Amino acid sequence: RLISNAAFDQNDEQTELSLRPQKLAQYIGQEKIKQKVAIYIEAAKSRQESLDHVLLYGPPGLGKTTLATIIANELEVKIKTTTGPAIERPGDLVALLNELEPGDVLFIDEIHRMPKSIEEMLYSAMEDFYIDIIVGQDATAHPVRFPLPPFTLIGATTKAGMLSAPLRARFGIVEHMNYYTDAELAQIVTRSASVFSTAISEQGALEISRRSRGTPRVANRLLKRVRDFAQVAAKDQIDLEIVKFALEMLHVDDRGLDETDHKVLRTMIELYGGGPVGLNTLAANIGEDTETIADMIEPYLLQIGFIKRTTRGRVVTPLAYEHLHLPYNKN
Ligand code: ADP
Repeated sequence: RLISNAAFDQNDEQTELSLRPQKLAQYIGQEKIKQKVAIYIEAAKSRQESLDHVLLYGPPGLGKTTLATIIANELEVKIKTTTGPAIERPGDLVALLNELEPGDVLFIDEIHRMPKSIEEMLYSAMEDFYIDIIVGQDATAHPVRFPLPPFTLIGATTKAGMLSAPLRARFGIVEHMNYYTDAELAQIVTRSASVFSTAISEQGALEISRRSRGTPRVANRLLKRVRDFAQVAAKDQIDLEIVKFALEMLHVDDRGLDETDHKVLRTMIELYGGGPVGLNTLAANIGEDTETIADMIEPYLLQIGFIKRTTRGRVVTPLAYEHLHLPYNKN
């Protein structure tokens, strides 16, 4: 997918890095989380203790990785970054933990995708800062205890519900990231444009924001594409007109829905009379995997009230019919 695919090219990855704010004060939105986190950081620093473990959950692209990096910066410690599926064997975890210095942050993205055996090793690491490793085989196998420096685990996940209860219980700080308002996204877009040394009008920034699904990563990506159009059109700034033109070319509609969203809604309407449809059936019909729909597509459609979850599956709401200019027939 053009805008919300988790896999992006290296070029995108580099711009993501350059656009990432480094300090809490530069982190736009999520005000309540920011206020609390600032207090926790200050308290931990004044006690010269490691910060309690932090779990951040919410849809992709809302700034979980960014916030984790900022927390480490504000704590003035190093951050080690990995993902749940990358920690395959106990040795992988040991290697990561072994590099930590007192107070450091270990950031595990997609923490819900960690193998169960690794997760269990983490319990004692989080709670009492040690791990037991089984050494030897069969009859000679015995656990050896490795002490660890106090550290802060920051976990990120798209759904807190996908985390096992014992793991979730070991996080002292649990925060849910919300979608951003248009005004907040406009601030992010304006800041990003200045990082690119590109001028953008207030109207232009707002229009990009309105179509960014409440998500900074999408906003930054749309900005990059619009900037290309503005450059080729020899515009001296990104204005409303060029934003509208570019996003029309990119098939991003005025609510930020792209072709895949349209496909999901149309499939539900045309093949299943608007639902209820199960997630797996839907995935099979549009050729996306279930996880992509559940994590990337559905949350925003739910958020803007275009689909509803019922016990029998997903249904399309009248709002979505109206948006697609289709007649709504309850029966
Ligand atoms: P997640 O880890 O939740 O998927 P990221 O932290 O990777 O999201 O954020 C995606 C991009 O959006 C980052 O590169 C960053 O530039 C931008 N971003 C996210 N949140 C903010 C914010 N609050 N303020 C400014 N930029 C942000």
